[in-house]
Amino acid sequence: MATAYGSDGMNRPTCKTCPFWDKIGKISFDLDEGRCRRNPPFLAMTLGTTDGMGDENSGEWPFTKESDWCGEHPEMSKWGQERNKNSQSVAPHLGVRARKFLFRMFADGKATCGEIISSPETAKKLAQIPITEWMKIKHCGLTTVSELRRWLKYHGLEAVE
Ligand code: SF4
Repeated sequence: MATAYGSDGMNRPTCKTCPFWDKIGKISFDLDEGRCRRNPPFLAMTLGTTDGMGDENSGEWPFTKESDWCGEHPEMSKWGQERNKNSQSVAPHLGVRARKFLFRMFADGKATCGEIISSPETAKKLAQIPITEWMKIKHCGLTTVSELRRWLKYHGLEAVE
């Protein structure tokens, strides 16, 4: 069965395509409902039974809707990996101070600020300079350092302490 997706815009695999989902049909609203059989039934207490014997314990599986989801769906780890891959393909945001910092450090009189920041060569050069040296440059505070660390990571590089 093809993977169905949730309605929250996250495109997660949902109960609808989960092998643990036992579809019942439409019980309320418009969506199909079913039982999640990922785990053994839990004990549910029914109050006021008609046989006059008091409370009764019985096994129940949780009801879920076809658009529900949880981390136990077998395709969730694949979904997580895809999501991480996609989020890593977008360069982390660099604030104004971090951008100015990179320009001050690597301006050569020819390249524009945008060219310097978007060049992987800039990241390689920065990764060779210890953070203690970065901090000597005007306006390079802790926020800038943490942005630049993430930016280096995006380029597959580590900052030198
Ligand atoms: S709650 Fe989780 S394990 Fe259960 S049917 Fe839904 S996705 Fe599958």
